[in-house]
Amino acid sequence: MDPLKQRCCESASAGDNGGVTSGATSRVTRNDVAAGARGTSGDSELSGASYDASGSPGANLPALRGHNAALVLGLLRAAGERGVSRLELAAATGLTPQAVSKITARLRADGLADEAGRRASTGGKPPTVLRLVPGARHAIGLHLERDELTAVLADLAGDPVAVRRAPLAFEDGADRVLTTVEREVAALRDGAGGPPVLGVGVACPGPLDHTAGVLHRVTGAPQWDGFPLRDALADRLGLPVVLDKDTNAAALGLAQGIRVRGTGEGVGADEHTGTEEAGGADDGRGLPPGSGSFAYLHLGTGLGAGLVLGGGLYRGRRTGAGEFGHQVVQLDGPECGCGKRGCIEALCLTAVVRGDLAEAARLLGVGAANLVELLDIDRVLLGGRTVLDHPEGFADGVARVLADHARIRGGSAVPVMLAPGGARAVADGAAQLVLAPLFGPRHPALAASREAVG
Ligand SMILES: [Zn+2]
Repeated sequence: MDPLKQRCCESASAGDNGGVTSGATSRVTRNDVAAGARGTSGDSELSGASYDASGSPGANLPALRGHNAALVLGLLRAAGERGVSRLELAAATGLTPQAVSKITARLRADGLADEAGRRASTGGKPPTVLRLVPGARHAIGLHLERDELTAVLADLAGDPVAVRRAPLAFEDGADRVLTTVEREVAALRDGAGGPPVLGVGVACPGPLDHTAGVLHRVTGAPQWDGFPLRDALADRLGLPVVLDKDTNAAALGLAQGIRVRGTGEGVGADEHTGTEEAGGADDGRGLPPGSGSFAYLHLGTGLGAGLVLGGGLYRGRRTGAGEFGHQVVQLDGPECGCGKRGCIEALCLTAVVRGDLAEAARLLGVGAANLVELLDIDRVLLGGRTVLDHPEGFADGVARVLADHARIRGGSAVPVMLAPGGARAVADGAAQLVLAPLFGPRHPALAASREAVG
């Protein structure tokens, strides 16, 4: 029994990734977005009775059903523009060529894959190459911060097609926040010409119950305690919704190794209300495959961590893992919004407010070193608005503490880097809450065969 494996959610079996809120006979497959999603009758292909009945977001999309289809879809995504032949798919998945042909026929019938010419012959008949059609379906990622909403429309490859930002007052409570979200999601979809949307991933400050889709006592916004945000949003939006912590969404996106095109920052739009057209060349900022175990530390208006252990997102049994900011590092220290004293979040944010960034970075480094000591992770990634305001200062400050830690303990220091994706890392990752389960699990053997294929 490996408890970590049990709770790794990237593979998204229903038990790992939360429950489906309705449906009598959950025919749960590994590619269930439904995992923690709740659908309603609406205009999504994944919503309505068939979604609820099967527990699968792909209920109306036969091509998205089943573990093997997810594996094939994952290989198509990994191969990118170059594409992959049916024989290569068979070799990489261990499926028979006939089974692969059946799956790819269904994917093509649903418009998810198409033929991309023929590969140069190495003797026999040149094989036909298939590739993913990224624009065939989309997912929406929402990042609800205490004072701002970021909404991303991502294609199947995880690339952003459109981005919007709007002011948000999280402490104003549910009704006003839901109204803002509804308006921005509608504008996002309209602005992109109303493409088919599979579902909505919502990332917000923790703590929360990912499985039930319910918020807990968010520091500074206690009125949200117990609010069923997932179901309320599913009702408003008419789409399946998955709820997770901001830190988990970002970590999932990073674990997927998504490659974000363009910076998406301030491109042709007002900072707070406009629509940004994401574009530009692929800058390859995604993490390399097989990045193993890492911690994503998010310092914005709060402080939290997303943990990827052995390649999978670790949420914990009650999906409460990663409350990094509320570890006590100073007994009887200053009061924290959570009710305790001496939390690292309170100390760190206080240092930021008084302009002592070196001290804030040092505190973040101490927390990072504690994580390294506990979990033996491979790297530390930094993100969140406060870090991005002073990226070098935080990266250097944390690196210094980790170097000191390594010197005392022996061995080399765990590397620190800014998380790829910049200010959009959480919103992009939120879209992955919907997309990742469609593409099958990533385990080392498959990753290796993908590289052989790609
Ligand atoms: Zn606290």
